[in-house]
Amino acid sequence: MDSQESSDRIQYPPFCELCLTKFSTNQNAQIHFKGVQHYNRIMVMRLKSDKPDGFFCEICCCELNTQLVLEQHKQSPKHLKKHAAYIEIMQLKEEYLRSNNNINN
Ligand SMILES: [Zn+2]
Ligand SMILES: [Zn+2]
Repeated sequence: MDSQESSDRIQYPPFCELCLTKFSTNQNAQIHFKGVQHYNRIMVMRLKSDKPDGFFCEICCCELNTQLVLEQHKQSPKHLKKHAAYIEIMQLKEEYLRSNNNINN
C-alpha cells in the first residue's frame, strides 16, 4: 500500500504563469506556490476579475490611472521586460501541457 501519497509528492509545473517565474526544481515550485508572493498575486487577480473596470496591466499586475498612462506603461522597459518573460512562460506552459498530454495518452 502506498499510503504515503502526501502533498510533498505533488508535481508542480516548472513555472508560475501568474507571477511569471520559472523554477529549476519541484521544491522551488512548491515553495513558490505556497508562498505569500504567489498568494498575493492570486488575490489581486481575483479582485480584478470581480471588477474589471479601470486600467490594469495584467502582465505586471499593476493599476494605472488613465488609458494614456496605461499606453505609456506598455512602452516602458519595465513592462517590455515582463512581457518577454510572459512570452517565455507561455511557451513553457505549452510544452508542459503537451508533455503532460503525452504521458496521459
Ligand atoms: Zn506565482
Ligand atoms: Zn505592464
